[in-house]
Amino acid sequence: MSFTTRFAPSPTGGLHLGHAYSALLAFDAAREAGGRFLLRIEDIDQTRCRPEFERGVLEDLAWLGLSWEEPVRRQSEHFADYAAALDRLRQMGLLYRCFLTRREIAEASARAPHNEEHHSPPPYHGPQTPLNPEEENELLAEGRTFSWRLSMRRCREHLGGDFERLTFMEEGHGPAGQHGETSAHPEQGGDVILARKDTPTSYHLSVVHDDALQGVSHVIRGADLFASTHVHVLIQRLLDLPTPVYRHHRLLTGPDGKRYAKRDRSLTLAALRDAGETPSSIRARIGLLE
Ligand code: GLU
Repeated sequence: MSFTTRFAPSPTGGLHLGHAYSALLAFDAAREAGGRFLLRIEDIDQTRCRPEFERGVLEDLAWLGLSWEEPVRRQSEHFADYAAALDRLRQMGLLYRCFLTRREIAEASARAPHNEEHHSPPPYHGPQTPLNPEEENELLAEGRTFSWRLSMRRCREHLGGDFERLTFMEEGHGPAGQHGETSAHPEQGGDVILARKDTPTSYHLSVVHDDALQGVSHVIRGADLFASTHVHVLIQRLLDLPTPVYRHHRLLTGPDGKRYAKRDRSLTLAALRDAGETPSSIRARIGLLE
């Protein structure tokens, strides 16, 4: 299998040092392996992603010295592909409509312990009693909006014993030091959302679809996405897609000990460049040799 990896930013703001670390790790790994490096723009959230942010991302990455294959895949241009994948899971009877509001979900989840990880809202473990078709039709007739959730209970029934045997190869480290052959526990994230009314797909669905479509053999990304990987491994199995090797990397922290975030304007690559930093000094700051 030839080595193919990618950097997949969401253009919702300026890239910061944490992004530079992730992008350079992936780029360097591809170069060392004599493999391919892809850039994918994950802009399914059309309310938060903006073309000027995307232009900034491309500019920052080129300035850092990265190069990638063209054309760049832009997820917002492929909603039909994700709809087909969603439909397949729906035909398999693994999805259900969830009409609860964000607040109702938050209230339901507040009773259960949860973590604050990136892309991991408090897990929702499904309704006590599923809606019957009449109740559902009534809500639909009222025009109530809903999201499609993946039912962990039905996935477990569908896969039988294989559900407990889902694994992936971790070549990096999970947040608790996980390394090597790792068991996937997708149920820990609850019944994740795979599509919403305003975004007809989700991060989980589109990332799994695209990694397979683009032949990604190695996913190199932050340990904040480790919990998501467990869900991705399940979706890969359900859709008969290969599971790439994962390399989760540590998250860089700023001088205040907190993770870099898009809100830290002073630490965006654009701001650092304007302040006179060079691609080499950025590499030195994040501990990556050229
Ligand atoms: N688009 C995601 C983000 O910006 C990363 C996706 C991934 O690497 O799987 O957080």
